[in-house]
Amino acid sequence: MPDCLFCKIIAREIPSQLIHEDSQCVVFKDIQPQAPTHVLIVPKKHVSGLSACSDEDKPLLGHLQRVAAFVAEEAGIASGYRLLTNNGRSAGQSVDHLHYHLLGGRPMNWPPG
Ligand code: AMP
Ligand code: ZN
Repeated sequence: MPDCLFCKIIAREIPSQLIHEDSQCVVFKDIQPQAPTHVLIVPKKHVSGLSACSDEDKPLLGHLQRVAAFVAEEAGIASGYRLLTNNGRSAGQSVDHLHYHLLGGRPMNWPPG
């Protein structure tokens, strides 16, 4: 396993506020929330980001989106939320383990910064 923050969270070596877990992913609250609901949807498989995914990851990527919709429903934000991934430093990626941000509970501006 690489020296990876999210791999350590998945392995319970670092605590998190976990709200969902299944065979393929975990969902936990972002430590610096940018909206009333801000959670991270993180595959258990270590892959550095979306650009590092391959065709074999298509089912996993689909699963992450389905989990996002489920979590949004459970959180009561299904009528309006944003799902995004930052790919690369210039896009704001700070943790090199693929993750999707699910944000909601406030109006979302467009375009994003
Ligand atoms: P990104 O900048 O897109 O790579 O997103 C990484 C996210 O991880 C940021 O929103 C951070 O606030 C969040 N984060 C960093 N450390 C932790 C942690 N220990 N537990 C939960 N979220 C974290
Ligand atoms: Zn990792």
